[in-house]
Amino acid sequence: MSDGDADWDVIVIGGGPAGSTVARYVAEGGHRVLVMDSRDSIGSPLQCGELVPSNDEMRRLCPDVPDIDDLLQTPEDAISMRTREMHIVPPSGRPLKYQFEGLMLNRVAHDEWLVELASSKGANYLTGAHVESISGESVSLRDGRKFTGRVIVGAGGHNDPLRRDHWDESGLKIPIKFVLMDGDFGEAVELHFGSMAPGGYAWVFPKEGGANIGVGIQKKFSKGKSLNIFTDDFVGRYGGQATFSGAGSLPMSGTIDTFVKGNYLLVGDAAGMVLPSNGAGITIAMIGGRIAGQTIVRHLDHETPLTDYEVEWNRQMGKVMGNSKLSFRLGSLILRLPDWMINMAFNRLTKALVWRSVTCRKLLF
Ligand SMILES: Cc1cc2nc3c(=O)[nH]c(=O)nc-3n(C[C@H](O)[C@H](O)[C@H](O)COP(=O)(O)OP(=O)(O)OC[C@H]3O[C@@H](n4cnc5c(N)ncnc54)[C@H](O)[C@@H]3O)c2cc1C
Repeated sequence: MSDGDADWDVIVIGGGPAGSTVARYVAEGGHRVLVMDSRDSIGSPLQCGELVPSNDEMRRLCPDVPDIDDLLQTPEDAISMRTREMHIVPPSGRPLKYQFEGLMLNRVAHDEWLVELASSKGANYLTGAHVESISGESVSLRDGRKFTGRVIVGAGGHNDPLRRDHWDESGLKIPIKFVLMDGDFGEAVELHFGSMAPGGYAWVFPKEGGANIGVGIQKKFSKGKSLNIFTDDFVGRYGGQATFSGAGSLPMSGTIDTFVKGNYLLVGDAAGMVLPSNGAGITIAMIGGRIAGQTIVRHLDHETPLTDYEVEWNRQMGKVMGNSKLSFRLGSLILRLPDWMINMAFNRLTKALVWRSVTCRKLLF
C-alpha cells in the first residue's frame, strides 16, 4: 500500500482474529480493505491463555455455525500441543474430569498466520497505526493521517475506539495476568475455581515443554486484594521458571445489544464476543468476523442492509451466547461462596451440570 491510498471500501480497526477474519472475507469478495493496527507486529506481545477448542469440539459447541473447517484453518506451526482432557478444579484440588479436544496455540504465530491468510486474499495492512477517532466515513490516526472507508469495522478488542466513541453500552471486564512457565505439566487443561480467583478463574494450560498459567478475577469480589497477589499465589504453586509474563483484560458480559450503527460495525471483543462461561474469545471472534465480512460484501454488491450481520449472528450463535451468559450469571453467584461450599457444589452429582454450563448448553434438558 502506498501513502496515497486514502480511500477504501472497508477500513478495519484492529488486525487480531476478528479484524483479520473480516478482512479475509471482504478481500475474498473482491473489495478493497485496509486493516489498521497500532502494533508494529500484529499478535505481539502475547496476551492470551492460548487454548482453543479443536474444530470437532467447535462443531459440538456451536452446532449452528457452518463450514468450521473453512473458517478455522490452524496451521501446524501455530499449534504447540493437542489436549484431550479438561479438568475443572475446585479449591479442594479434586478435579472433575471431562473429555475435551483442545489445541494449545502458539498464539503469536496463529495471529500472524491470520494476517498472512487475509493478505493472500488481497487485504492490505497498515501497522504502527493507532486510530484516534472516527467520524462519518473518516478515520484519523494519532500521527495525523486520515483515511476514508464506506464501511468501518471496529475490531480493536476491548478498548476499541469505534465502540468507545459511538456506543454507550458498558460491560464487565475481567483483568487477567499470566505467565509462561517451563516444565512438564501433563496433558490436561485445568480450570480452577474458588478463592484463588474470586468471581473469575485460574488456569493451567500445558504447552510443549511448559505451560501457560494465569488468573482472572472480578475486582468487586477480591476484598481489596490485588490481582498481582492472586497471580503470585497461584503461579507460586508451580515450581518452574517463568519465561514470560503478560496481562490483559477480557470482556465477560457477552455480546452487546447492537453491533451495527449506520456504516459502522463492531466485531470480536469490541462487540463482547467472548463466551463468558468459559472465556473462549478467539474462535468466537472469527465466527463473528466471517459473518461481518460476508455481510459487508453483500452490502457493497447488492445494497443489502448491514444489520443482516446481527440477524445472521443470532441465527448461528444466539442460543450458545444466551446459554453462556445465563451460566456465567448463575456461576458468579456460586463462585462468591466460601471454598468449602464450592467444594461441595463440584461433585459427582453436579458433574454433568457443570459441563453443560462450561460448554454453553441449556442447563435444564
Ligand atoms: C490474558 C488473556 C487470556 C486469554 N485467553 C484466551 C484463551 O485461552 N482462549 C481464547 O479463545 N481466548 C482467550 N482470550 C480472549 C481472546 O484473546 C480474545 O477474545 C480475542 O483476541 C479477540 O480477538 P479480537 O480480534 O476481537 O481482539 P484482539 O485480539 O484484542 O485484537 C485487537 C487488535 O486491535 C488493535 N487495536 C486496539 N486498539 C487500536 C487502535 N486504537 N488503533 C489501531 N489498532 C488498535 C490491537 O493492537 C490488536 O491487535 C484471552 C484474553 C486475555 C486478555
